[in-house]
Amino acid sequence: MYPLPIEKLINLFSKFPTVGPRTAARFVFYLMKLPIEESNTLIESIVELKTKIKFCSFCFKPSENDLCDICSDPSRDKSLLCIVEKETDLETIEKTKKYKGLYFILGGTVSKLREEDIEKLRVRELREMIKNFKEVIIAINPTTEGEATALYLERLLKPLNIKITRLGRGLPIGGELEYADEETLSSALDNRK
Ligand SMILES: [Zn+2]
Repeated sequence: MYPLPIEKLINLFSKFPTVGPRTAARFVFYLMKLPIEESNTLIESIVELKTKIKFCSFCFKPSENDLCDICSDPSRDKSLLCIVEKETDLETIEKTKKYKGLYFILGGTVSKLREEDIEKLRVRELREMIKNFKEVIIAINPTTEGEATALYLERLLKPLNIKITRLGRGLPIGGELEYADEETLSSALDNRK
């Protein structure tokens, strides 16, 4: 057992995505060696993040304002909506500069489509705002969970009579959007059906 403040921090870092107890311990010992000014910057940055940044009230992209830079941009095509799993997928698609519509960040995927899992996604919010769009592109990662989620969304949106497309094939099966190169992603956008 380490002294309690160390154990406490290890516990906190262990909850971070992809961080296990060993990496968490390394983070803590790194912090112990950090000059006080640097650790203060870290603390201030976390406070700033928690006080200044909220989620866009439309697409859930992190933003300093009620509407994010994309949703408040008059040049974006408001008839086109792209549904992604998470913030980083949105950034990946933005980098291709190919897509000019709006986004909706679902907030995850579900594997077994149980009621309690689905409730964790922003499905209710999605249903409310989706009627104003001509085309909805489902750009969920082609993993097993992603496929299940995409099928669920297609079923959910079908009765609304909106054109629903999926990102074209060519994206690696089981892969994640954020690891696809820009060219592959651009052609997947072009070949959506
Ligand atoms: Zn937004």
